[in-house]
Amino acid sequence: MTTKRTHIIGAGIAGLSAALAVTREGGEAVLYEASPRPGGRCRTVHPSDAFSHDNGTHVLFTANRRTMKLLKAVGARDRWVEPEKKGLPIYDLRTGAMRRIGLSPWSWLWPSRRPRGLGIADLTRIMRLAFPLQECSVASIIGDRPIMDNLIGPLTIAMLNTPPNVASAKRLALALRHLLWPRAGRLLIAKNGLSGDLVQPAVETLQARDVPILTGQRLRSLITQGERVVGLSLTDRAIALGPEDQIILALPPYEIERLLPTLPVPQRFEAILNVHFRLKGFEKPRFIGCLGALTQWLLVRRDHVSVTIAAAEAMMHANADDIAAIVWREIAPVLRELGLDVSIDSQPEARVVKERRATIRQAAMPLPQPPVRPLANLALAGDWIGALPTTIESAVASGEEAVAALRNAPAAGASIIRHPASRREDAA
Ligand SMILES: Cc1cc2nc3c(=O)[nH]c(=O)nc-3n(C[C@H](O)[C@H](O)[C@H](O)COP(=O)(O)OP(=O)(O)OC[C@H]3O[C@@H](n4cnc5c(N)ncnc54)[C@H](O)[C@@H]3O)c2cc1C
Repeated sequence: MTTKRTHIIGAGIAGLSAALAVTREGGEAVLYEASPRPGGRCRTVHPSDAFSHDNGTHVLFTANRRTMKLLKAVGARDRWVEPEKKGLPIYDLRTGAMRRIGLSPWSWLWPSRRPRGLGIADLTRIMRLAFPLQECSVASIIGDRPIMDNLIGPLTIAMLNTPPNVASAKRLALALRHLLWPRAGRLLIAKNGLSGDLVQPAVETLQARDVPILTGQRLRSLITQGERVVGLSLTDRAIALGPEDQIILALPPYEIERLLPTLPVPQRFEAILNVHFRLKGFEKPRFIGCLGALTQWLLVRRDHVSVTIAAAEAMMHANADDIAAIVWREIAPVLRELGLDVSIDSQPEARVVKERRATIRQAAMPLPQPPVRPLANLALAGDWIGALPTTIESAVASGEEAVAALRNAPAAGASIIRHPASRREDAA
């Protein structure tokens, strides 16, 4: 008797999502992960000195329909909480003023929730941004308006991790349109952290479904015969695949390029920088946006404060201590404004996490995209597959879509189909 097993390589969110989708209806899956733990770019760091923090703050929106469904399926929806129910506090470091804004245009019916500088002409521009007729940069639609500094710029960097002067309006629009629904713009964070509130519940659900999760197993190469994969060469083992077996590579583009060099993949990435300060914060987390500073977002937890600086390529080579010192000088007044007893002259212990390839660069041009199922029994997943902004939501969606692509595969082999947008974007 031959088995039908789906071998999923990469236990980030895309791989976990694929494994949940395969096993939801009784299918059999095995996960292989190169690093010692599942989670990929969503992880909580647990150093020996007990100063635990996420690699970087991750936020979700209630509009992230697929992720909300996944969280419910693994029993973790209530672990994602809305820290700022009354609107997102924005602190302008240039003026020292703090005000709350709504992220959904519906909330702007209340003048107190409107972003500073929002005028009637901006509403037209924002609608054009949500429904762009052609691909162009976000900045080319919004122009040099106060709303760019106060809302659209920070939102673009948060959602696309790409500066607005190059960021794709079409990609941003896919996320913005979801925020147009009432209550869709509620911003959520993990109550205790990414591992405990997302990765571990997914892992436990998979374990309850008898899915082996083999860590420390890097896929070195694929063994192919014609248009099928017939074997996997991993860190310490080789696996011969049965005729019914299927493979999902839930990996970043550079790994796909190494394993399947003929496929077109995005070549350019953007960095995210995170600084974590160890200090006594609040029992209930707070989440604040900052304007006019390096610091973009600030998450205050019970025992630390995390700062996010996205699209941070220019800072990647800066000295970590220097970065922490600059960021502390910026955020100390904000923390004081929130009611914490901190001093600008007394910086707490800090940890700087540099994610050099945090996401692909989501520029206003056709990005190289491989077919979802480039070989007869192999499909691709990962946040960078498809047209959505590269986030947890796109990772979840890609895992489910890879499973669907294999389920719908014709019995005979398929050939490698070139995607129309297969030119390399370094030409830009
Ligand atoms: C600092 C930071 C902040 C972010 N903030 C947000 C946010 O606020 N909201 C949001 O929605 N998203 C955010 N993101 C993006 C989000 O983390 C990613 O979109 C998502 O985690 C990608 O999941 P993935 O499974 O596609 O890829 P990955 O997480 O990269 O998973 C790939 C996995 O494959 C493994 N692997 C690689 N090569 C091999 C191999 N050869 N064999 C076996 N295993 C291999 C890797 O170890 C990894 O575990 C952020 C990302 C970063 C870095």
